[in-house]
Amino acid sequence: MRARATSTCEGVRALIATRSKEFEELLKTLADAGSVYIVGCGDCATVLQTGGEYEVNEMTGKLQEQGKTVTGTIVPDVTCQILDIKRLLRKQADAVDAADAVLVMACGCGIQAVAEVLEGKRVVAGLDTVFAADKGRAGEFYEYCSLCGDCVVDQYAGVCPVTRCPKGQLNGPCGGTDGGKCEVDSEKDCVWTLIYKRMETAGDADDVKHRLANAKKWEKGTKPHSYVFEPRRG
Ligand code: SF4
Ligand code: SF4
Repeated sequence: MRARATSTCEGVRALIATRSKEFEELLKTLADAGSVYIVGCGDCATVLQTGGEYEVNEMTGKLQEQGKTVTGTIVPDVTCQILDIKRLLRKQADAVDAADAVLVMACGCGIQAVAEVLEGKRVVAGLDTVFAADKGRAGEFYEYCSLCGDCVVDQYAGVCPVTRCPKGQLNGPCGGTDGGKCEVDSEKDCVWTLIYKRMETAGDADDVKHRLANAKKWEKGTKPHSYVFEPRRG
């Protein structure tokens, strides 16, 4: 059977990890909004339990307790699909128009998709967007890649120091590593311990001890990135 190959995050893949904002902080932001329309996300924010049906319903109740009117809610399958969101929110025009603000419980991509299609409407971020997540066991998510634009992970036995070292040490470890642990968070292994162990297994440990990393092309990570192309048909 032929495996499905994709270079995007569609299907089974990494997630955009989000974190709920403090409710008190949201209330301050929404202080002058008597009515709110809420948009969640049926994809990453549902898996992360920050913006799925459950959390949107919970937020509805909490806002109502504070005397606010919730004019409507929606949890699209994927909130960062601009054309889909446009179509879905058009059908909700009355409820959206009736609200002083639209609270979006999705990642920054989803929030901006909603803002783009609701020109002139006040859009409020309900979540903080934190990292692109590798998923481990149920309820475990890890930041392994910071989408730097110039992947050099092959120089490090497949363990990324750009992301997994708090200092991004490409020629590590730093002087603070202690007993194989990281000086910034002693609960965590120093990423260089992980790199070294992997290289030792592959018989390359001497190499990593004595070599300097190739200069990294940081300019390849200049933002904002975009891909605009004619998709192949058939
Ligand atoms: S080197 Fe860059 S692209 Fe490669 S894993 Fe690390 S952060 Fe991600
Ligand atoms: S101890 Fe290791 S992981 Fe921690 S900052 Fe230093 S090099 Fe990076």
